[in-house]
Amino acid sequence: MTTVAFIGLGNMGGPMAANLIKAGMTVTVFDLNPAAVQTLTAQGALSAKTACGAAASADVVISMLPAGKHVQSLYLGSEQGTGLLDVVSQNTLLIDCSTIDAATAQLVGQQAAVKGISFMDAPVSGGTAGAAAGTLTFICGGSQDAYSQAQTVLKVMGANIFHAGDVGAGQIAKICNNMLLSVLMVGTSESLQLGIDNGLDPKVLSDIMKVSSGGNWTLEKYNPCPDVMENVPSSNQYQGGFMVDLMVKDLGLSQQTAMASNSSTPMGALARSLYVNHARQGHGKLDFSSIFEQFANQNKK
Ligand code: NAD
Repeated sequence: MTTVAFIGLGNMGGPMAANLIKAGMTVTVFDLNPAAVQTLTAQGALSAKTACGAAASADVVISMLPAGKHVQSLYLGSEQGTGLLDVVSQNTLLIDCSTIDAATAQLVGQQAAVKGISFMDAPVSGGTAGAAAGTLTFICGGSQDAYSQAQTVLKVMGANIFHAGDVGAGQIAKICNNMLLSVLMVGTSESLQLGIDNGLDPKVLSDIMKVSSGGNWTLEKYNPCPDVMENVPSSNQYQGGFMVDLMVKDLGLSQQTAMASNSSTPMGALARSLYVNHARQGHGKLDFSSIFEQFANQNKK
């Protein structure tokens, strides 16, 4: 039986770990937030006092943390403590599912390789609903061996599993996707508000656009206008879901990557600017579909 250590039990990691437990795996969890740990132990997880304690005897370690600095200190260590690379065996497979910069993923991958340990970046798409339903898309970067070995756990948490290339490639594909997602979310929001301002019912307009040439994921699964769709953050005061602060992070990563490769990404740059502005107005902890409010709350002429 596969034993898994799961580090980072937030909006995404919590439900992902829960699906591994439901599949009968032995899962030892760790998070800095005791309440998040308790939610998982109530569902059958074991807990450890530290990330190293959780990982030491696991076949597979999965991390789901906010940003690159958290991932780097988890695996490589910091002034606060030992890194996982110092405690896991060479048979342990390390899978980081966080969305981080490709350079940090590559650094951790190189350090792991020096010790003969397999590391793979496997950022996800599909949101909190996909995490709960076990239908995430995993975008993997790593060796063919690590990719094959990871299938047992990834198939429990996801419906689509891709191998994008070597370590770091998963992160590049992920930030391309999130840059596009942000552009679609902003465009959908301004289009819906234009319709509302001109007397249309946003539900009717959404139904029309969903099956027309403007149709996209945000209209199908994540409508940003409150009360158009049930069970999405916009119908719950933009709570839960994917935080604006995390989208700002991802759009920063895509712009840094574009600078490094001299790529032209004008829509991504504009979307970043709009999201930074939204976060600076105090909305960083809301779901990213709350960008709709930037258009809905404008003063009318
Ligand atoms: P979150 O803030 O809800 O969860 C992060 C968790 O990590 C928190 O519980 C926090 O306490 C814990 N944590 C932070 N530092 C830690 C450490 N050193 N050791 C142990 N635990 C630590 O974030 P989330 O929404 O779950 O996102 C996690 C990652 O997944 C991010 O990189 C995000 O960009 C990515 N992502 C999120 C979504 C989404 O819809 N929320 C979708 C795809 C990808």
